[in-house]
Amino acid sequence: MAKLRLFVEQSLAPGQSVSLTREQAHYLFGVMRLAEGAEILVFDGQNGEFAARIAEAGKRGGRLDIGARTRPLQAPPDLWLLFAPIKKARTDFIVEKAAEMGAARILPVQTEFTNSERIRRERLQAHAVEAAEQCGGTFIPEVCDLERLDRLLADWPAERRLMFCDEALVGARAALSGPPAPWAILIGPEGGFSGSERARLHAMEQAVAVSLGPRILRADTAVVAALALWQSLLGDW
Ligand code: SAH
Repeated sequence: MAKLRLFVEQSLAPGQSVSLTREQAHYLFGVMRLAEGAEILVFDGQNGEFAARIAEAGKRGGRLDIGARTRPLQAPPDLWLLFAPIKKARTDFIVEKAAEMGAARILPVQTEFTNSERIRRERLQAHAVEAAEQCGGTFIPEVCDLERLDRLLADWPAERRLMFCDEALVGARAALSGPPAPWAILIGPEGGFSGSERARLHAMEQAVAVSLGPRILRADTAVVAALALWQSLLGDW
């Protein structure tokens, strides 16, 4: 069986000792039934992945001894995902998939037709961590707080291209080209983009309007499709 992978907040190096939080101890010893002496893999999001041995296993905590580095950090391309949050379970799905597909930063944005005014950032960040643990990633994308799209665009970095997934282009050929990263992908809400948002985005020099094929996709599907398209043409696939 593949070794269990655990993300830890502490910066890792061989020979270190890491204290486990209550939640980590519950997961390793209560749920996964690991005992002292068991070997797992740990990563910190900065220094790669390391072998680790369980040195102490308790109900409320425990300790790991860190061994050799097993893999270097593999950071994704400098790609942001901007998406308008939808229903809770589908928003969780978007964050999980974005982490698996190799987004470097996840930015929930409020557009004119966004259905949801609030997100729970910490819960979404925890989904990104779980996805990285499960998919063999050594990097955790940061999940940002909800921000208004118009404010983000007003301050948009000159060098960062924006792959604007525009449902009005449905049926057009999915043409994406441009320089390598930095890039961002923008996916709208269930209601799509407003006329003024669309006009503003088309007028942006950094924006490249893209079709995702002949069918209108749900926002969560569109996220995965756009990430696959970008990664295969300009990213690390
Ligand atoms: N209600 C809208 C569709 C919104 S789909 C309508 O009927 O027109 C949600 C988001 O997914 C869109 O804002 C867009 O970013 C993306 N999307 C879905 N299908 C797409 C397609 N075929 N081409 C480009 N973007 C698409």
